[in-house]
Amino acid sequence: MIIGVLKEQLPEKRVSLVPDIVKQLGKQGVTVWVEPDAGAAAFHSDDTYIQAGAALMPRTDILQQSDLVCSIQIPEDWHLLRAGTILAGVYQPLHHHDLMQQWAAKSLTTYSLDNIPRTTRAQSMDILSSQANIAGYKAVLLAAVSYGRYFPMFMTAAGTIAPAKVLILGAGVAGLQAIATARRLGAVVEVFDTRPVVREEVMSLGAKFISVEGAADASQAGGYAVEQSADYKQQQEVLIAASITKADIVITTAQIPGKRAPLLVTAQMINSMRPGSVIVDLAAGTGGNTALTQNQQTVFHNGITIIGDSNLAASMPADASKLYAKNVFNFLQLLIKDGQLVNNLQDDIIKGACITHEGAVISERLQAVLK
Ligand code: NAD
Repeated sequence: MIIGVLKEQLPEKRVSLVPDIVKQLGKQGVTVWVEPDAGAAAFHSDDTYIQAGAALMPRTDILQQSDLVCSIQIPEDWHLLRAGTILAGVYQPLHHHDLMQQWAAKSLTTYSLDNIPRTTRAQSMDILSSQANIAGYKAVLLAAVSYGRYFPMFMTAAGTIAPAKVLILGAGVAGLQAIATARRLGAVVEVFDTRPVVREEVMSLGAKFISVEGAADASQAGGYAVEQSADYKQQQEVLIAASITKADIVITTAQIPGKRAPLLVTAQMINSMRPGSVIVDLAAGTGGNTALTQNQQTVFHNGITIIGDSNLAASMPADASKLYAKNVFNFLQLLIKDGQLVNNLQDDIIKGACITHEGAVISERLQAVLK
């Protein structure tokens, strides 16, 4: 069985399998082909892959001859894959309906690892968590570097510095890591989320939780947020507006799977912030949580810096690739049976991740959107 590893296109710097994992796959009898320079941007040389037992192969051979191809982003030249090839990566199928239908028509078996159910058994394969954790951490560091003031409080002979006030919108995996990181740097942190269940976690990290009563019931949405009523949104706007005028740093992470990110911060709210403040919007890739966010860009508006980046994990490519590759390895353990790749759709993790198979879109989440 051949597993192929593609080199990602810049600005993506991560790689889907690292040499340590290649070695472990080799022990299971898997042949791994790696595109030259695939790991270079994540600090893994071709030599380290060869020492781990991989063979360096041209991209076209990998695409045309592998049984399973690993990537992170959508490979632009996917049309070179043979019918029946398995493709595994992070493809955001709910945002790429047409492409998923083309993959089905080409009879590719595709696994989108961002669709793995968020269950206890799947935790070791949860790429959303491993990568969001990095994004939350990096968002705060980026904000601290872009901010013209200190984060911690200082009382010095030359005067007193007040601690930075950080507002975090969305307390999922990224938001919780952002809270912890901002607290470690000495900031005072306020947090807003529509899910009241996160209150305890937020408070245990030393932050203040602010909330609006009457959030829509998310209990049927697998722990994810759902769309809120117009009345709720209005109250939410008043609450965020009051908090944002006091904030020096705003980190936004609010997402609703398969939908545009909720617009939480208006231009008027941004105008109420003091010059020098910084916003980092991790939801930029799905439309952004602020009215002024531009994906993959930094906007300077009336002295406020607005950084839009949904792929911050890629800015820490070494650890991000290490964790991603381990997630993929754990997922592959469900697929590899007696040296063969088996698409056991009775397994809820495989079923959740599998988007297309044998000429059809089989993901129930995607089918529901396509109806
Ligand atoms: P996400 O990236 O989908 O969203 C980030 C946060 O934004 C969430 O906390 C969400 O509630 C919040 N949000 C959405 N709309 C909002 C709004 N209008 N205002 C404010 N906040 C808003 O979330 P995630 O980090 O991927 O986590 C999603 C769920 O999965 C959570 O319930 C989490 O606990 C759960 N989870 C489970 C496991 C597991 O058991 N394996 C692992 C990780 C996460």
